[in-house]
Amino acid sequence: MLQPFVADAIRIRVTGVVQGVGFRPFVWRLAHELELAGWVKNDAAGVEIHAEGAAAALNELERRVRDEAPPLARVDSVWVRPVAYEATAGFAIIASSGGRVSTAIGHDTAPCAACRAELFDPANRRYRHPFITCTHCGPRYTVTRRLPYDRPQTSLAPFPFCPDCQREYTDPADRRFHAETTCCPNCGPRLSLRDAAGQPIEGDPIAQTLALLKAGRIVAIKGLGGFHLACDARKAATVACLRERKQREEKPFAVMLGAVSPALTFAQLTGDDVALLESPERPIVLLPKLPATDALLPGCAPGLPEIGLMLPATPIQYLLFHDAPDMVLVMTSANPHGEPLVIGNAEALQRLAGIADAFLLHDRDIVVRCDDSVRRGTGFVRRARGYVPRKISLPRAVPPVIAVGGWFKNTICVTRGDEAFVSQHIGDLDNAAACGFFEESVAHLLHILDVEPAIVVHDLHPDFHSTRFAAAFAAERAIPGLGVQHHHAHIAAVCAEHGVREPVLGVALDGVGLGSDGTAWGGELLRVEGARFERLGHLRPLALPGGDIAAREPWRMAAAALHLLGRGDEIARRFADEPAAPMLATMLERGINSPFTSSAGRLFDAAAGLLGVRRRASFEGQAAMLLEGLAVRHGAIGACPDGWRIRDQILDLLPMLAHLEDCEDAAAGAAWFHATLAAALVDWLAEAAGRTGIRRVAAAGGCLLNRLLSAALRAGLAARGLELLEARALPPNDGGLALGQAWVAVNSAAGA
Ligand code: ZN
Ligand code: ZN
Ligand code: FE
Repeated sequence: MLQPFVADAIRIRVTGVVQGVGFRPFVWRLAHELELAGWVKNDAAGVEIHAEGAAAALNELERRVRDEAPPLARVDSVWVRPVAYEATAGFAIIASSGGRVSTAIGHDTAPCAACRAELFDPANRRYRHPFITCTHCGPRYTVTRRLPYDRPQTSLAPFPFCPDCQREYTDPADRRFHAETTCCPNCGPRLSLRDAAGQPIEGDPIAQTLALLKAGRIVAIKGLGGFHLACDARKAATVACLRERKQREEKPFAVMLGAVSPALTFAQLTGDDVALLESPERPIVLLPKLPATDALLPGCAPGLPEIGLMLPATPIQYLLFHDAPDMVLVMTSANPHGEPLVIGNAEALQRLAGIADAFLLHDRDIVVRCDDSVRRGTGFVRRARGYVPRKISLPRAVPPVIAVGGWFKNTICVTRGDEAFVSQHIGDLDNAAACGFFEESVAHLLHILDVEPAIVVHDLHPDFHSTRFAAAFAAERAIPGLGVQHHHAHIAAVCAEHGVREPVLGVALDGVGLGSDGTAWGGELLRVEGARFERLGHLRPLALPGGDIAAREPWRMAAAALHLLGRGDEIARRFADEPAAPMLATMLERGINSPFTSSAGRLFDAAAGLLGVRRRASFEGQAAMLLEGLAVRHGAIGACPDGWRIRDQILDLLPMLAHLEDCEDAAAGAAWFHATLAAALVDWLAEAAGRTGIRRVAAAGGCLLNRLLSAALRAGLAARGLELLEARALPPNDGGLALGQAWVAVNSAAGA
């Protein structure tokens, strides 16, 4: 540790996220408290402090700068050196010294405890002010157009400070000193409630909104990164009506509650879950349901083992729940037809016409669209509001690259120095609006990071919008493009996050991605080392009878399994009520329109189809989620040791599928499927570890969202002395792909 300073003047250099987070006033207050003279300023590298005074007070300053930084700050390093005494009088915040200042935009957070206390304090001048915020909380990323992060560059620009707010903003002792988004009832934005025709509804907007919600109406409510559709989650008819209007048959709705305690009625919570729910980022947290949940919240997450809960993230939401603490609201993204989230007032009235009965609007624009983040345990399912634009640290400085992700759950990634920035969840690039959002996001991310990329990285699939965009981008800027195999990128994302450059065994358990050989991969055993990978093995392929449609109809995968088992003649009988069944049997027999895939996702579908869990999926991953839910409910069960064969590093799970075919009890079958799959994967990986001498396994792909599989894999590998790395900072699914693409590119640029 550092020696105590005897010098009576020191310079302290602080790096990290230290600008726009109240760091200078924090130092100012410390210096005043410790009776030190000097100054503090922002510069291109972070914050610099000059302090003079008693040696003990200087030591104390250094310690507290390190230990007591403001809540939104993240201190990476604190360097201290003695300097000449300058006999400075007083302590001041001085102007920035040029350079590239304030390159960081913070992430959006929920109102802090101090702001919430003021919000409900009748004596406070911001009592019930729906836009209350301070230096330590509130909107950031979603209200900032461009850098530097100053009020004129945010959507608060049209709201000049009143004299009171101006005084707070310029007073270093005030907790709103340089709070760029602060405002009050005199100078800030205003709420308004409109009916379905866009006409104003008289009265207090919060009280009227509550009245509508209680009456079973659907209200579009403007949030931080976009609109939500809200309704009373306890009213079956209302939730059913929302499903019908949104044309969303079964996909689960997230539910918002006023506090943690009512959540205990609906879900099992660990201490970590509570911490996540209450974290300033306020994600949706997926939690195991309690037995009564489906009856209490009918239609919110039908048939699924989990429900997504969240706590209020904006003062508006706090006001609603303050006045109705027992209320339970469906809070689902307002993204009609799978298009990007609605963010504008006029856009809401137009695009949500026929869905919302009323609109709770305000005149502070949402500049950047940002969905709710979804977390589950220690991992991410979707990473967006609250977490973007925070960096992921890389083990070393790398060249600037942009990676444009895949097709589904698209995100993009830009590297700068030893940092990687992954965009918010953009969505599936299957419609023009989503592709437009994707292109906006590329431009915005490059702008706020001030990066000129040297390489553009994309998936191998030539028909993705992202791939075509990358080709045009490369041509326009005369920079090289690089295609990266989908599952290589999945594994590389885990390596990047964990800073691993040594070889790993990668196990990609995924829906589908284009393989280097032109076939559909998705259950891969790879040897990955930096920019290089080798396909060591894969799951024994199953046919996709009918092509892509087989990915949405698990019964087709069950038929493919039956065919492979030599029981093709059973297909028509077993699926007698499926008109396509006899034709499917013929197609499989003759190999017509039945391409093969090694996808692990389709193996889950086959199991779900054989066990009769699900014939058709109404959203991606549904069959696998139901299967996991059944297995969890059934409880632990041993693996069947003769459920698999490994030949030439190809893992054949056909014996297991044969057992499932004869299984009477779907829950027992589901539990047994999970246990056997995990044991087989461990066996497969252990054999590869023995052959290659690599003891470290990286696992990724959409199937790793399955907690049962991930836990069994971890335990099984540990028992064989193998280490497992998984995605933690990003989702394991295609939402993390871009980071892996970028990591492959920077390693190939480095010649690794
Ligand atoms: Zn605050
Ligand atoms: Zn004001
Ligand atoms: Fe994938």
